[in-house]
Amino acid sequence: MFKEAKDIEKNENKFSQNDIKFFIGLFPPQSVQNGTVHLIPSFGNIGLIETDDGLVLFDVALRQFAPRNFKAIRKISDKPVKYIIFSHGHFDHCFGFKPFIKEIKEKGWEMPEVIAHENVLKRFKKYQMLDDYHRWLNAQQFASVMGNQKDVVEPDEFLKPTRLLDGRDPYVFNFGGIEFEINHDIGETDDSSWLWVPQKELICTGDLMISSYPNVGNPYKVQRYPKGWAIAMENMMEKDAKYLIPGHGEMIEGKENIREILEITSEAMYFVHNEVVKRLNEGKWFEQIFHEMLEIYPEKFKNHDYLRPLYGSYRFAIHAVYRLYHGWYSTGNPTDLYPSKSSDIAQEFLKINKAERYFDHAKSLYEAKKYQLALHVLDVIIQGENFLNGFDITIALELKSKILRKKANTAPSFIVRNILNNGAKEIESRIESKKIK
Ligand SMILES: [Zn+2]
Repeated sequence: MFKEAKDIEKNENKFSQNDIKFFIGLFPPQSVQNGTVHLIPSFGNIGLIETDDGLVLFDVALRQFAPRNFKAIRKISDKPVKYIIFSHGHFDHCFGFKPFIKEIKEKGWEMPEVIAHENVLKRFKKYQMLDDYHRWLNAQQFASVMGNQKDVVEPDEFLKPTRLLDGRDPYVFNFGGIEFEINHDIGETDDSSWLWVPQKELICTGDLMISSYPNVGNPYKVQRYPKGWAIAMENMMEKDAKYLIPGHGEMIEGKENIREILEITSEAMYFVHNEVVKRLNEGKWFEQIFHEMLEIYPEKFKNHDYLRPLYGSYRFAIHAVYRLYHGWYSTGNPTDLYPSKSSDIAQEFLKINKAERYFDHAKSLYEAKKYQLALHVLDVIIQGENFLNGFDITIALELKSKILRKKANTAPSFIVRNILNNGAKEIESRIESKKIK
């Protein structure tokens, strides 16, 4: 279990590419505008704006990063925190508030105004209702950075917003001689706010910009909004910002650079949205849509630095659009309406052919580097575990975990790597427990 950010660093170092270090905030703070605007790198980032009258924080990051972020901010300024704005209600943006509140109480300062979209409060309530489920889920999605630790969120200990916004119009306030404008768009979530500070030429985006292909269609999480995401990017473009603090990753600087990144992200979101919609209107089922979409993915998106599938990915986004407009019956094959148990289906295949034959075939697929097909064939043996007639399942398990590890090693997406490695790990511990018996 980790208590501090350095444990996250230790865990993730065991695993992967440099890219993820930027994603989880392992780089030095960045300052612009004569040291009045700062990106405090974290999981996720904090945007800090210093005014004559005090500090404005855009997000407060993950609870486990709070001591480190508090220290980093106090190195920059000793002014009181007067405003906290939540980009959205996710656990890596809103739960690292404790040291700041503790300081305010100790020094007898006034409590800060805490501003959020009204759906943030609904999300906090959802976190309470689904606490155990989210622990279980996040332990999988974030396995490589969190090790075995499970208490990522303490859903009963949230910082209650003092001002809830309905998002219909921009919310503007003046503080320390500076104007702050909070806008609402939907994208990763339906509770997002992004900040525009005209005098500083600054946008703070929250997770609407994460320096990766947008996290739309996350395999573990609820519905997200590709078209709303495209519109959010367009709305941000109108501001013509010179500095952009993303939810994850380094500060983006330069008007043209920012415009280009927002524009291509918007285009990528419209692309996936409109191409799936077109195929839905052509009466196509998911499988056909998905494989057609893989064929037509434009090179300009594939190779763009800010659309790399480090977290979200194009493949996941196709699911997101389909799911937004379609029910769960996605194959068009009536067999799938009331499917039998996987183990019963496997049993019937094992009646036709012995497990040895399936294994030999899977092995030949593996040798031909047809890894995905090999997995499907191996699953006949693994899911038919109770019908093997003396065949030792261990070799099938070993081959499956080997394939999963192989695929994980070449997967750029952090989520994909975690899913594949989790699967391999589970299989490996099954093999171990069989040996002990
Ligand atoms: Zn985030």
